[in-house]
Amino acid sequence: MEHFPWWTHEQKKFADEVELFAEELVPRDAETRWTREFPRDIFQKISERGYSGAGVPKEYGGLGLGATGACIACEAFNRMPGPGRTVVGNMLGGLRQIVEYGTQEQKERFLPRIAKGETGAIVITEPFVGTDAAAIETSARLEGDVYVLNGKKRFIVAAGVADRHMLYARTSNSPDDIRAHKHLTAFIVEKGAPGLTVEKINEIIGFDNIQNGVLNFENVPVPAANRIGKEGEGWRVMTAGLNFERTLICAQATGWATEALRNAVPFAQRRIQFGRPTIDIPENQFKIANLVSKVKIARILTYYTAHLWDLGWDITLESNVAKVYICEGALQASLDAMQVMGGDALTPFYPVEEIMKVSKIENIAGGTMEACRLVIFRTAVRQWADEFKMRRRVIHEKLGVPVPAASLPEKQKQIDEEKVLGLLAEDYRVNPGLHMSTGDMREYFDVETARLEEVLLTLENKGLVKLYRSKKGIELAKATYDGLDKAHPAEYYRWYPSWITKDRIF
Ligand SMILES: Cc1cc2nc3c(=O)[nH]c(=O)nc-3n(C[C@H](O)[C@H](O)[C@H](O)COP(=O)(O)OP(=O)(O)OC[C@H]3O[C@@H](n4cnc5c(N)ncnc54)[C@H](O)[C@@H]3O)c2cc1C
Repeated sequence: MEHFPWWTHEQKKFADEVELFAEELVPRDAETRWTREFPRDIFQKISERGYSGAGVPKEYGGLGLGATGACIACEAFNRMPGPGRTVVGNMLGGLRQIVEYGTQEQKERFLPRIAKGETGAIVITEPFVGTDAAAIETSARLEGDVYVLNGKKRFIVAAGVADRHMLYARTSNSPDDIRAHKHLTAFIVEKGAPGLTVEKINEIIGFDNIQNGVLNFENVPVPAANRIGKEGEGWRVMTAGLNFERTLICAQATGWATEALRNAVPFAQRRIQFGRPTIDIPENQFKIANLVSKVKIARILTYYTAHLWDLGWDITLESNVAKVYICEGALQASLDAMQVMGGDALTPFYPVEEIMKVSKIENIAGGTMEACRLVIFRTAVRQWADEFKMRRRVIHEKLGVPVPAASLPEKQKQIDEEKVLGLLAEDYRVNPGLHMSTGDMREYFDVETARLEEVLLTLENKGLVKLYRSKKGIELAKATYDGLDKAHPAEYYRWYPSWITKDRIF
């Protein structure tokens, strides 16, 4: 595995070790894909080495290698997509949530178990609740010092074999709590809890030697001591976990794309068509070049995001950007690898068809591509608000066209209808077709928002201005045609390019 210059000596050493070790396990993984056994022996070996604890702090029995170490383990173990997914699940099944929101007692109780490789599951999705995760119906009712859980959860990786379930349930139906996302609470539900049963094991692509299913919760008692975070804090716990989850999924998918490359190149070097190896065909070389590019960028994105997490940064934007780019990239990489290899790639005798299936899964699981894009959009608009400020423009004295303004406007301390309408009429000339935001307008007027709104409302009542209101109130304004006429004579708005001669204008 290629090292990054910012990795610590320990992380580099770990990458070399874990990669060699994963390679030793690959044959047994291949066997269990055919026999469809759950490869407990592989997990046992991983646990003995303590590698599941890569991201667990040292004081709780882990290797203390941070999100970077966790990603290194995930990338290496995903040469075996089935067990690799379960290793990811184990780390996801509470690690970040407990580190960030757990009490000292919970950290001491659960983190060493994660480090030892106990199988964990992340339990959010329900039969009627997918992308809209805040709509969870599974309920938790507090009775004394025990919460009683009722509901169903589906698509759960490791359903039936997990020792620990990081679960989210509804603890309030109050409209105020729902609006404020304070209606959910996070819990650790342990294997063997009375009333917790497996309703179904799914037949689903990419799950040959591991399992995925539906869990049923019927009056399941969960000690209040297993509540992670405060009651009503479940949404925050979940989103903290999701950013981490998405980063690990990126490491996982990076491992798959690399494995697709590892298969396609030696295959094409040994396949002769038209008297020459198929690797010599330019179309195949282009596909391999695309695969190499995807792997390179995927690794940079994954480990950059993990590094930011280790530095304590908010990685909402980075982890979602990485998930979209890498998971779509891994799927395309697997398709390109299959195309290079031809028909043989479609058989399970080579692992590329499995890589295609698992890559498709990660375009849906752990946040669909659409869900991630929504997060990217919302986060970027908020975080990059300064980047998205409207540049002030003015009409160029000689050219008569809008150009960026060289200076800020002189702010006026007094406003009246004429000044506001004049500004909106000018905006019609410099930003054709756009409304002006109240924020833009306040760059010209040093007055309270209430005063500006008062003038705008008067102009609206007179039909000279049209306003756009959002939930927050008045957001945008424009001059109506009557307003433009009132502000200036028609000639004021005229402009023709210099090559238009008078005979061409009636
Ligand atoms: C193999 C596999 C493993 C999984 N493992 C787990 C697990 O271990 N634990 C767990 O809790 N869950 C798990 N999931 C569930 C997974 O997180 C959900 O499948 C996913 O969140 C999407 O929900 P859905 O399948 O119900 O699709 P839906 O939510 O019904 O969405 C259908 C389509 O509509 C789109 N869509 C929905 N809402 C919007 C919107 N507002 N804007 C734009 N597009 C939208 C979606 O992107 C999608 O393309 C797993 C799923 C799979 C397939």
